[in-house]
Amino acid sequence: MDNCTLCPRMCGAERPLTGKGNGFCGLPALPGICRADKHMWEEPDISGEKGSGTVFFSGCVLRCEFCQNSVISRQSCGKTVDAQELAEIFKRLESKGVHNINLVSPTPYYPVITEALDIYRPAIPIICNTSGYERVETLKMLEGYIDIYLPDFKYSSAEAAKKYSAAPDYSDVALAAIKEMVRQVGIPVHGDDGIMKKGVMIRHLILPDNVENSLGVLDMIADELPLDIYVSLMAQYFPTGNEKHSELKRKITKEEYDTVSSYMMLLGLENGYMQEHESADSSYVPDWNML
Ligand code: SF4
Repeated sequence: MDNCTLCPRMCGAERPLTGKGNGFCGLPALPGICRADKHMWEEPDISGEKGSGTVFFSGCVLRCEFCQNSVISRQSCGKTVDAQELAEIFKRLESKGVHNINLVSPTPYYPVITEALDIYRPAIPIICNTSGYERVETLKMLEGYIDIYLPDFKYSSAEAAKKYSAAPDYSDVALAAIKEMVRQVGIPVHGDDGIMKKGVMIRHLILPDNVENSLGVLDMIADELPLDIYVSLMAQYFPTGNEKHSELKRKITKEEYDTVSSYMMLLGLENGYMQEHESADSSYVPDWNML
């Protein structure tokens, strides 16, 4: 791939099929798959009783300092696959009876993913599970391929976005991206089984010592997006040992959690989920290299 402009970094990088690209993400054009298996720990209307068929792609365009999945976000891991092999993975996961195919950190590989979906389109919903740092122009290429978007909305603060992810433009970029996702698939629609079939659910991870950032994210959602949009408020942050900033070296406090969750209710954002404060635990991170 020459002149890669898939994500908002717009490096114009060369990305050979395998090996190392020379862009910010350092990724080649073909994806490494770190894990492709049934996953039970997404939100209840995503994992349900049969699980979500998650495909964890290696690498990430955001590379947050506090990444909870740094084993896969910081390096190329797992087996390298082409579009035909990726289509086979979709088929195999679907045959396990999962509720959906859940593409985790797919951004650098959208061309291969759409090619794979042209080869084999599962009969279950396709989920795009992303950092939220997306170009609207790139998302338009996904229209018709994706049924459910699960974007993070990590930052309202440019300072925090710069400090932790080297992406000071994150908040405006993510808001525009989420608006495009809502345009494509709307607010969540559930089947009789309670499982989401279509729509957007926004995730926000509360960071220690960053309550104002979280309140700002909720303000942007309430002000700029439909009030009945689904929001999943996540309290599971735990330090992984890669943090450079001292404030990130602890879990969030009960007070921080209560302040953010109360504000979400106050704004009328009543659809979605709030993770219990006690949920901060590395057991949310799955084993990798399970293909
Ligand atoms: S996907 Fe990677 S190479 Fe392409 S623009 Fe984004 S960071 Fe740069």
